[in-house]
Amino acid sequence: MIWYPYEQMKTMKTPYKIIDANGVYLYTENQKLIDSVSSWWSVIHGYKHPELNQAIISQAEKFSHVMLGGLTHEPVQKLSEKLQEFLPGDLDYSFFSDSGSVAVEVALKMALQYYMNRGEEQRTTILALEHAYHGDTFKTMEAGDDEDYHFVLKAYGPSKYVIHIPTETEALEQVFEKYHDCLNCFIVEPLLQGAGGMRMYDVSFLKRARELCDKYDVLLIFDEVATGFGRTGHRFVADLVLPDILVLGKALTGGYIGHAVTVARKKVFEGFYDSNPQHALMHGPTFMGNALACSVALKSIELFEKGAYMDRIRRIEEITRREMEGFSDERIKEVRIMGGCVCVEVKDAGTLKGYQQYAYERGVFSRPFLKYLYAMVPYVITEDELVKVLHTMKEWFAL
Ligand SMILES: *Cc1c(COP(=O)(O)O)cnc(C)c1O
Repeated sequence: MIWYPYEQMKTMKTPYKIIDANGVYLYTENQKLIDSVSSWWSVIHGYKHPELNQAIISQAEKFSHVMLGGLTHEPVQKLSEKLQEFLPGDLDYSFFSDSGSVAVEVALKMALQYYMNRGEEQRTTILALEHAYHGDTFKTMEAGDDEDYHFVLKAYGPSKYVIHIPTETEALEQVFEKYHDCLNCFIVEPLLQGAGGMRMYDVSFLKRARELCDKYDVLLIFDEVATGFGRTGHRFVADLVLPDILVLGKALTGGYIGHAVTVARKKVFEGFYDSNPQHALMHGPTFMGNALACSVALKSIELFEKGAYMDRIRRIEEITRREMEGFSDERIKEVRIMGGCVCVEVKDAGTLKGYQQYAYERGVFSRPFLKYLYAMVPYVITEDELVKVLHTMKEWFAL
């Protein structure tokens, strides 16, 4: 029996069974659905993309996987070279892993050990944001701040090692003033907090965070697992404010295979680079640098570059703003739009009950959660398809 994610198995409704997928469409036995959530925000080029398929097929004919312990190969070398060129600043050192959560764990471990290697063992505290989501593994849950996902942590009581602040400059300044001696990092989902409710905030907060991290020598980590590859309307938020460690996942492989990367700047890498074996980063997921994942990730980045994706995302944002303009309802708290993300936050979660089936019947796959009805469409969507997704959302409130 399959144990499904985030579901009470006793009451969950039967999931839709997908038998084929192509472009922005998912196919069930008797319905064709626009995937308005890009399979958890990852399938940016759509399904069954001929070049992405071919990248995997060609690599599989050589080998699908070899471990990165003591071995290396061309796909992982090429991908790390590509990332070095594609990512801003001196974000040049790529540590691969098999999921976003693990890549965040690696980032947090890196930050802690960076200071341990310097003998600053008192720097054990993580600064993070309220409503943060960084994954479902234990340390990422602790850095996260989401009762709906992580209430199991209540069993441990409040964490001694994580401080959460709102996205307000005053709170940021106060916490640095008070705790800078024991902080090793400030981890954020930059500009757009995804699973915590599609919350959007201003870049000025991140600029101030960068200044304070510099002033007090604290590492700034951007968890761009969700925001990376254009979702906010910027290639990476790291293009606007340079973090010390950047985490990418989800869209890294175009949604084809689970893979993620923790990318460090030179100064972080150098904090490990010496002749003491104890200063090495002791981490190594079995499937890190998987050859199929690296091949498809490399092709995905190439498509992103040559396909004018930033223009596509701008167009998605324009159409979304045009369609959602003036849309309101007494049950709605706020409509938020940023880049390729739109979120309708309702006042009462009950308002969204039944929406998924309603959308299904109209040819749209949607997965609202809690009070959030949102779309994060594949970037290859056409105007008509996008309008259909947005109209379906609006028409629900006209019922
Ligand atoms: C999805 C997500 C993760 C976790 O990635 P997984 O691949 O599901 O482990 C971490 N951080 C953010 C911001 C995410 O959206």
